[in-house]
Amino acid sequence: MAGSTDFDLYRPAEEHDMLRDAVRSLAEAKIAPFAAEVDEDARFPQEALDALTANDLHAVHVPEEYGGAGADALATVIVIEEVARVCASSSLIPAVNKLGSLPVILSGSEELKKKYMGPLAQGEGMFSYCLSEPDAGSDAAGMKTKAVRDGDFWVLNGVKRWITNAGVSEYYTVMAVTDPEKRSRGISAFVVEKSDEGVSFGAPEKKLGIKGSPTREVYLDNVRIPADRMIGEEGTGFATAMKTLDHTRITIAAQALGIAQGALDYAKGYVQERKQFGKPIGDFQGVQFMLADMAMKIEAARQLTYAAAAKSQRGDSDLTFQGAAAKCFASDVAMEVTTDAVQLLGGYGYTRDYPVERMMRDAKITQIYEGTNQVQRIVMARNLP
Ligand SMILES: Cc1cc2nc3c(=O)[nH]c(=O)nc-3n(C[C@H](O)[C@H](O)[C@H](O)COP(=O)(O)OP(=O)(O)OC[C@H]3O[C@@H](n4cnc5c(N)ncnc54)[C@H](O)[C@@H]3O)c2cc1C
Repeated sequence: MAGSTDFDLYRPAEEHDMLRDAVRSLAEAKIAPFAAEVDEDARFPQEALDALTANDLHAVHVPEEYGGAGADALATVIVIEEVARVCASSSLIPAVNKLGSLPVILSGSEELKKKYMGPLAQGEGMFSYCLSEPDAGSDAAGMKTKAVRDGDFWVLNGVKRWITNAGVSEYYTVMAVTDPEKRSRGISAFVVEKSDEGVSFGAPEKKLGIKGSPTREVYLDNVRIPADRMIGEEGTGFATAMKTLDHTRITIAAQALGIAQGALDYAKGYVQERKQFGKPIGDFQGVQFMLADMAMKIEAARQLTYAAAAKSQRGDSDLTFQGAAAKCFASDVAMEVTTDAVQLLGGYGYTRDYPVERMMRDAKITQIYEGTNQVQRIVMARNLP
């Protein structure tokens, strides 16, 4: 097919365009009006959760056989991108629902999938992902949380840190050490429920950005769960956690892309309105060149991200490199573009009266979570194409 690209080989592009239009309308009508308030008050974007759930967009990746929308990886990216364009905090609802539940989808038993994917798809409970700990961030395999077998049960003890949507989510994929001798091969994954005895949460972190997305510690104090809540075989939890990130780093790239596009769109409008030296600042070539560079970088990030989504969908062997590259590149672009958007708004851009200040703060996290951009470079270097 002439003009065909890597990312439109497995699904007609038309469907994706229609989805984008629908999500953009919904996001502008139901999510954008609350974005500044959610940031200012550092409160959970309940309006976004309600709107996304009502339109079956809160966890689009859940396969149809488990009652989900069955969206492919590119469709999921488009949903996250369009929500992030107006509110980065809200985009963490579909993004983290995928992150938290993908270990079950990739490695869980049929029973586990049936038990948890239905409620997730129905909007009855969100999923979080618990890998990081106070002393185990980039070196996630250095975790200390333990799971000890006790007959037909496992007993979990430890502290997970920086857990997105903790307290709001019903379900938690928790990685824990089951054999301390084996380091990463001695880590197993489990589904823990908020209502399990011994589960509690720390105070919400006070953050620079994505203030509407709660980030809290998760405390596991003698949490006793049935053995069939283990995801996959004993000792495969770390591999599952890393495989999950190969797919979900693309969703962070999508989030970065959306934030950057939101900032560009706002700046584009502003430069037509703002007059200095007797004309709109958008008439100055220095300003036009900045906008051109911003748009160019966003488009490059978009192509990389969509190509990575296609690889995720197909399970290509170079997904690890491509997912890391998309996340790293798109998040760096988001930081540059949002900083430039603030610049284009001058002093006004530096205030909370305009959204680009929030977008610049929100963009920063995309360079840090699901592995810092230094870690992405380590991943890429180990998996060079
Ligand atoms: C808002 C927020 C939400 C998050 N959500 C989740 C979540 O839902 N679930 C979850 O499990 N985790 C989550 N995280 C954790 C996140 O993934 C970690 O913060 C991240 O992986 C970095 O770990 P760290 O903070 O311990 O930094 P560190 O690992 O201590 O890194 C500090 C610095 O050292 C650099 N560094 C470390 N090792 C190397 C190396 N080998 N080479 C070069 N540089 C290196 C890092 O790049 C970084 O610049 C979240 C974090 C935040 C802030």
